[in-house]
Amino acid sequence: MERDLVHEPERAALGKVIDRAGDRVGYEDSETDDVHGGRITYPGGLGMKVEFVRDVEAAVGSSGVITEPEQLRTYECDGLTGHRVVPGLVALPASTAEVQAVVRLCARDGVPFVARGAGTGLSGGALPIAEGIVVSLARMDRILDVDLEGARVTVQPGVTNLAVTEAVAAHGFFYAPDPSSQQVCTIGGNVAENSGGAHCLKHGFTVNHVLEAEVVLPDGELVRLRAGDPGPDLLGAFVGSEGTLGIATEIVVRVLQRPEAVRTLLAGFDSTDQAGTAVSGVIAARILPAAIEMMDRLTIEAAEAAVHPGYPDVAAVLIVELDGLAPQVEDDLGAVQSICLDSGAVEIRAAADDAERALLWLGRRSAFAAMGRVSHDYYVQDGVVPRTRLPEVLRRIAELEREHGLRVGNVFHAGDGNLHPLVLYDAREEGQAERAETLAVAILDACMDAGGSLTGEHGIGVDKACAMPSMFGPDDLAAMSRLRRGFDPAGLANPGKVFPTPRLCGEVPGPYRAHPLERAGLAERL
Ligand SMILES: Cc1cc2nc3c(=O)[nH]c(=O)nc-3n(C[C@H](O)[C@H](O)[C@H](O)COP(=O)(O)OP(=O)(O)OC[C@H]3O[C@@H](n4cnc5c(N)ncnc54)[C@H](O)[C@@H]3O)c2cc1C
Repeated sequence: MERDLVHEPERAALGKVIDRAGDRVGYEDSETDDVHGGRITYPGGLGMKVEFVRDVEAAVGSSGVITEPEQLRTYECDGLTGHRVVPGLVALPASTAEVQAVVRLCARDGVPFVARGAGTGLSGGALPIAEGIVVSLARMDRILDVDLEGARVTVQPGVTNLAVTEAVAAHGFFYAPDPSSQQVCTIGGNVAENSGGAHCLKHGFTVNHVLEAEVVLPDGELVRLRAGDPGPDLLGAFVGSEGTLGIATEIVVRVLQRPEAVRTLLAGFDSTDQAGTAVSGVIAARILPAAIEMMDRLTIEAAEAAVHPGYPDVAAVLIVELDGLAPQVEDDLGAVQSICLDSGAVEIRAAADDAERALLWLGRRSAFAAMGRVSHDYYVQDGVVPRTRLPEVLRRIAELEREHGLRVGNVFHAGDGNLHPLVLYDAREEGQAERAETLAVAILDACMDAGGSLTGEHGIGVDKACAMPSMFGPDDLAAMSRLRRGFDPAGLANPGKVFPTPRLCGEVPGPYRAHPLERAGLAERL
């Protein structure tokens, strides 16, 4: 997960300053918090109005407000650590009413706000705004209701993904979307990112499991969006909106009954091409596994070094999990084994028991973190390709590796064509970080050229906002922008994310200049 594209020179200790009029609190270097050569700059140095800070404190209590520079700094980035901005203020509301009060104050004073769950996002969605406030949902971490008859669980947004399954597991239920970060990431963050996971191939993404969301809109109004509401699917629009339409303060999710049988298979191949062929073969045979995951040699080696899952010494492994009624699962297991053998598998192993199955998954789930064993830094790319084009795109990634002189590990949700190339580099070496970024962009271009998509599950955030026009036409972007304005006319909810805006897209900082898309009336500056 570690990505530090630019080495930030150690800054002198921050000093709190009050401006001459005595009505704003700021920090001496708030103008220079941007470490990205102008890509994410906001008019720093303004600080927060003293009155605003006092009112937020009154709303959430003094223990619910962070103003000290060293503490603010812990919120400066999410999992995309190459982008850092120290926020003006952090509020930790403990209830919906407190979130509402904070958001109302933001609306009153025109202060932008960024909702934050666990900060594990990989696209910079929770990146703060220098003159804005971070609204952390960490204190809203209670499971409010478990309704087994209705198969519904009601949670506050700061509840972790895994906690939902833990709350119902003893009764034979589980919560299907299972990001690898599930031990720490929050349901609020999952909703905002429409997060996926290994088992989303069969069971669907977060959007398929959210039944209701209570949302504080950017003007402070409280609304409840339901899956069955007549009219436009506002809940569907909210899921995946990356914190740009409001803050979810309560979420009702659907839980599923544990399948009668689960079988997990490991297949080893001499090439990723063969493994990719097996993936297409399984789907073509009309078998829908719960999960099909692929890891290449580099990630296999890293996982072996870190958690010793006992993977074979091959160029690629597939982990295929089948679930459902026992006879069907056994039939499918036999069919998948045959398809893997026909595609060139050199080793096939079905987990004999739960312990063996857990070990196979441990290797896969630890793969990102395990990369720390083989590389000082790495960047996680997230792109989607049509399944049938997987072998070709993997070949292109190998070519790009050679062209750019950097290693790329591949570990991904092969069943739905969602690639996660891990671009390895060493930020201590001059120029490597920049080369890694160029390579990551080239990989995304390869996905798009193959008819794929910009992101499978990590979102757009700040990371890919500039790439949006490569996937969406002007009319699409304009329609999305109008939807956003419908929820947030003042543009206070997580501005600078998702949509391409001039400074995000590499223009030099300085006086505001309209982006060509804006001049053409196709995008708005929020
Ligand atoms: C090791 C690792 C593995 C990962 N594996 C996966 C994976 O398998 N699948 C996957 O999809 N992702 C994965 N991720 C990415 C990340 O965990 C998910 O995007 C997750 O949903 C983020 O949740 P969070 O609580 O950390 O949210 P944050 O990072 O805090 O926020 C993410 C976005 O949600 C918004 N937000 C947060 N809470 C709310 C709220 N209550 N209301 C409105 N907006 C809100 C924020 O403003 C931001 O835009 C992984 C990350 C890591 C570090």
